[in-house]
Amino acid sequence: MFLKRIELQGFKSFADKSVISFDSDVIGIVGPNGCGKSNINDAIRWVLGEQSVKSLRGNSMSDVIFNGSTQRKPVNMAEVTLVFDNSKHVLNVEYEEVEVTRRLHRQSGEGEYFINRTPCRLKDILNLVMDTGLGRDSLSIISQGNISAFADAKPEERRALFEEAAGVAKYKKRKNESLGKLNRTQDNLSRLEDIIVELERQVNPLKRQAKKAEVYKEKKAELEKVEISVLVDEIEKLNKEIEALKQKAFDLETKKAMCETTIAVEDTKNSELRSEMYQLDREINKLQERFAKLTEDSRVLEARKIEMDEKRKYAIEFANSAEKAKELKAMMEEAHYEYEDRKKRAQSLETDLALYKEQSANLEHDISYCTQETAQANAILNRLQNRKDVLENLARQPFNHQQAVKSILDANLNGILGVVSQIFKPRANYETAISNALGGAMYHIVSKDEASARHAIGFLKKNKSGRATFLPLTVIKPRAMNNEHRILAENSKGFLGVASDFVENEERFCDLRDSLLGNVVIVDQLINANEIAKVLRYQYKIVTLDGDIVNRGGSMTGGQGKNNTTPLTIQKELTSLLQSLDGQLLKVEGLQSQLSSLQARKDRVSSDIVQLQISLAQLDPIVKAKWAKYERLKTDYEQIAPKDEEMQQELMDDDIVVRLSRLHSEIDEISSQMKSKRERRMKAGSEVERKDTQIRQLRRDLNILQNDEREVEVQQAKAETRLETALERLSSTYEMTFTYAQEQKVEMDMEEARKKVAILRQEISSLGNVNLDAPQEYAEISERFEFLSKQKEDLLKAKDKILSAIDEMDEIMIKQFTEMFEKINSELNDVFRSLFGGGKARLFMVDPEDVLNTGIDIDVQPPGKTVQNIRLFSGGEKSLIAICVLFSILKARTMPLCIFDEVEAALDQANVERFAKYISKFRGESQFIVVTHRPGTMAQCDALYGVTMQQNGVSQLLKVKLQDAIHMIDKEEVKA
Ligand code: ATP
Ligand code: MG
Repeated sequence: MFLKRIELQGFKSFADKSVISFDSDVIGIVGPNGCGKSNINDAIRWVLGEQSVKSLRGNSMSDVIFNGSTQRKPVNMAEVTLVFDNSKHVLNVEYEEVEVTRRLHRQSGEGEYFINRTPCRLKDILNLVMDTGLGRDSLSIISQGNISAFADAKPEERRALFEEAAGVAKYKKRKNESLGKLNRTQDNLSRLEDIIVELERQVNPLKRQAKKAEVYKEKKAELEKVEISVLVDEIEKLNKEIEALKQKAFDLETKKAMCETTIAVEDTKNSELRSEMYQLDREINKLQERFAKLTEDSRVLEARKIEMDEKRKYAIEFANSAEKAKELKAMMEEAHYEYEDRKKRAQSLETDLALYKEQSANLEHDISYCTQETAQANAILNRLQNRKDVLENLARQPFNHQQAVKSILDANLNGILGVVSQIFKPRANYETAISNALGGAMYHIVSKDEASARHAIGFLKKNKSGRATFLPLTVIKPRAMNNEHRILAENSKGFLGVASDFVENEERFCDLRDSLLGNVVIVDQLINANEIAKVLRYQYKIVTLDGDIVNRGGSMTGGQGKNNTTPLTIQKELTSLLQSLDGQLLKVEGLQSQLSSLQARKDRVSSDIVQLQISLAQLDPIVKAKWAKYERLKTDYEQIAPKDEEMQQELMDDDIVVRLSRLHSEIDEISSQMKSKRERRMKAGSEVERKDTQIRQLRRDLNILQNDEREVEVQQAKAETRLETALERLSSTYEMTFTYAQEQKVEMDMEEARKKVAILRQEISSLGNVNLDAPQEYAEISERFEFLSKQKEDLLKAKDKILSAIDEMDEIMIKQFTEMFEKINSELNDVFRSLFGGGKARLFMVDPEDVLNTGIDIDVQPPGKTVQNIRLFSGGEKSLIAICVLFSILKARTMPLCIFDEVEAALDQANVERFAKYISKFRGESQFIVVTHRPGTMAQCDALYGVTMQQNGVSQLLKVKLQDAIHMIDKEEVKA
């Protein structure tokens, strides 16, 4: 006896506490319809954990609580207790006796479970009966009318019965748990894989970034090493350069001082010369006076001589011969004296003449040379003057050739601010570079905004005045060199700056300036322009001071036209032209004054020559006449005077002849003195002129020296700025003093090093944005990645374990299920033959390949009939077949308890008897509680319990004898 006792209270019709104690294996429960028999069946299933309200024949769980009758009030609680003998340990618990209780409160709807009066969970109850054959899917408890359900069930529904019989429920449960675990594991795995994929997505770029950061650091360190040396070298060179420039400035200063001194000296000399000229003028005047007096004296003496000569002629005619001879002799001597004197004078005149002629020829030559020079200088002057006119014209109207620009400017439209070339003023010496940096944009017109530009274009259209480009200030965006590029450029040879640094403009045009010139680089010469263009990767327009261009992309523009004048260069050209014009004018003036002084000298020499020639011409006959006079007087004297009587008489000093001749030589002396003083005066005059020219030249030299000095000062300032920049870079970037940096300097080829710096900078800038934290981040993320990968591995291992556990369970289930199935199947035929009196029946798996899920079907062949499926049989046959299967199961494995609620109702008398007898065979192994109306069944029971219900609607129990039971049925039948 497995089930020892049932206690019911408040359950369905059992309002009062009722106890059924079982003392034998086959117990029948009898009673009239509606007395409460099936309620006992319900009670047992209820305690064993039935949750289906429908299978308990109610609408809600509270329907199991007694709900009153005409004479009884409803109760508030249902309680049923089953007491099992567990000495064979059928139930999954240690106890020898197990008392299972279920309670339900109407008010709270709360259910309570107890095992051996200890509260427990429903789950514990279900565990208790698991795989005992008492499960809800087993055939061991069959409710009223349910017997045919087995036959009508789908093969898949039928399967549960066999599982229950095979006792695989716990494996199935564990498998389900494992599957749940598997699912969770899979979920975790998926989540982990998502994270890992995400990390992988991050890890590769980070790895690259980290690599990049390493490269960046390396290059930066290398750059530092090289650049420090380069900077030190540059600083040293700059120091030297500044030293040299200072020296140059000093030299220039010295030269300037020398020049100034020379000017002062020459000035002094000039004023000395001027006072000498004044002195000479005065002396010449005095000589002239003296000359006039002597000439007068000589005239008086001449007259006295003529008078004396007349007296002598008279004496000779009328005196004696001695007297005569004496007179003749005196006259003869006088004549001879005069002749000698005149001859000497003539000779001296001739010498002078020859000298003057030679002078005249020399002057002639000088004049013709100077004339030629002057003509040439004049031609140049004319050319310069013409150019000056042209430039002045251009300066007044720079846009004469830009029709559209001119008409816009003339029209004086609103919102037109000017032409680019008017707005920006290039710094000195950068005019050509800026012109070429601007290019065509020089003639673009700047407007306040787009509307004014539109208006101006409309104006041009209306007047057909040509086309122009407008720059509305409101939309212009400044451009600038990238900082890295700027540093690269600054460190390149020949770099002078960015074009925008070299113009002056009003504040409001700064953006425009940067837009047009902010990314144009100015360098000294073309070869350096090419070099810098390369360093800057041909991303900037580069213009040289001469106006040659290396365009973006590398194309080159250059050359020289007849004149490359632009509005921006006019002023500079004009200034330098005016300077040349000045110089040329000076030169022409100098040449002209030189020429006129030469001419004047030549004129004077010519007139002197004429004067000399006249004097000579006058003197010549006098010499001859004197000689003739002397000859004649000598002949006359020799006729009267004896030869021995030599003339002893000497001419006296006060002789008129002597005085006259002295006078003449004095006059000659004075005139020659005058001549020489005049000469001296003239020389001084031209000396003064020469010195004036020289002083002017010196002053110009001084001017140039001053300019040079300023230029040197500018260069020095530039070098000092560069020095400051280099020092600043040392201190701000590398935090080093120059002295310290000098110690760090490494000997290397500086040209190479400079290139290396440029290359490194370029390489660093081409790295773009560098994330310096990347190596750290990469390390962190890869650590995380590894950690998660490890976790993933663990999860995969766990998954494998679960899968293999499931496989193992599957294997066990398949084995147990198949074994049990075969066992039941092999029993079935016997059971069938004994219940049907022949024929055969066979259970088969619908899908033998899938033992774990296959449905179970039955083919049956009753005696004399063909093989048919169970569903095609009659109700009674279906019941009987189901009972056959049930008995086969009971034979295959022992079930501790079977409760049948009128399972044999549809059977005929003979079959009932066979059924009842078959039950008896299991006596001792299984306990049967059979609700029945059939005497055949009752007859096979060891004990019978009668259930009655009096008028009050409450079921009552009592043990009855077989006869009483049959009597009870008969009474019912009589009632019916
Ligand atoms: P039959 O021979 O016709 O199968 P039976 O003896 O099996 O009859 P049951 O089905 O066990 O009868 O009992 C049905 C009776 O129980 C009905 O009369 C019904 O009124 C009564 N009943 C069911 N639930 C309750 C309840 N909660 N409170 C009171 N009476 C109930
Ligand atoms: Mg019933």
